[in-house]
Amino acid sequence: MRCWAEINIDNLYENIKELEKIILKEKIMAVIKANAYGHGITEICKALIKIGIKNFAVATVEEALKIRQINSEVTILILGPIENEYMSKILDRNIYFMITDFEEIEYIEKKGINVDVFLKIDTGMGRVGFQEDEIPELIEKLKNCKYVNATGVFSHFSSSDSDEDYTKLQEKRFKEISENIMKEIKSVKYRHILNSFGSLKYHDSEYDFVRTGIILYGGVTEEETLPYKFKPVMSLYAKISHIKKLHKDSFISYGNTYMAKKGDTVATVSIGYADGVRRDLSNKGYVYYKGHRCNIIGRVCMDQLMMLIPEELAESAKKGDVVEFFGKNINIVEVADLCNTISYEILCGISSRVPRVYK
Ligand SMILES: *Cc1c(COP(=O)(O)O)cnc(C)c1O
Repeated sequence: MRCWAEINIDNLYENIKELEKIILKEKIMAVIKANAYGHGITEICKALIKIGIKNFAVATVEEALKIRQINSEVTILILGPIENEYMSKILDRNIYFMITDFEEIEYIEKKGINVDVFLKIDTGMGRVGFQEDEIPELIEKLKNCKYVNATGVFSHFSSSDSDEDYTKLQEKRFKEISENIMKEIKSVKYRHILNSFGSLKYHDSEYDFVRTGIILYGGVTEEETLPYKFKPVMSLYAKISHIKKLHKDSFISYGNTYMAKKGDTVATVSIGYADGVRRDLSNKGYVYYKGHRCNIIGRVCMDQLMMLIPEELAESAKKGDVVEFFGKNINIVEVADLCNTISYEILCGISSRVPRVYK
């Protein structure tokens, strides 16, 4: 294999154990959208079911149906908006989707589709859901609904990792709104707002589910989650395909953005931006190799990239050796920072061309 993503299921299990210190296990709603943040939705879902996780969240109808094929009982919540035409297709399957506006309620009533749904409230994310001033009308409409059966109500934090005051404000709004709805609409039994970072800061006792994504996969730093510790589930590796000692000064890669010196040892590695190693790492990123951090030199190509071998390793470096891009030795958050993005985007950006190896 030229490159691969190793998926460490033991670390996933340890992360669940760590989470159980703060969340009741039965409240964990594992977010496995986007191919389980790139880890493989089928394998991650099966592994979690094996240790008793019973609630899952996804983004699309296709993802929900995939999980239903794996298991006929687990609770599945679709977190992304779905098109009206799909609503009748996911009947009878114990898969919940969310209602985000009045138009959806009208559609369901008009078509006579019997569904259990979750109401989405916009408490400050500004994405989808009912705003605070729409709640009285929502309650009135729901009271007159024949078909829409609101089972739960939920909302989403926009800044739980960065803005405590705003997160508190969102939580306060949600508590008021959800209490009001639950008082008026008796079918609404569940409510939830906490995500990964929310779960570390707020207590789960008020909520029926906690939607945890990124911390399950350990796509975080220790400082972000203190005093809890989460381990990286994915490590990205690639092999050295070619090594040369330069006989004269030489440009490296497209655009001649890096000049290596005579005598430098340069290794070519079999991974590139088509695999998910971001081009932003050109002349900026590094890889872990035999106890060293080695610089990525020149532009990252589609399928390959070059790295500078430190002098100490010039003799021992050889074709076929394995280098790490993130995982045990390089935290993915560091890589994301270098790319001006977040660990989430790096993880789901590891392309389907990269084999996932489970251990
Ligand atoms: C993706 C998502 C989550 C999970 O977020 P993490 O930060 O990964 O825990 C929770 N809720 C909603 C609505 C989401 O879209």
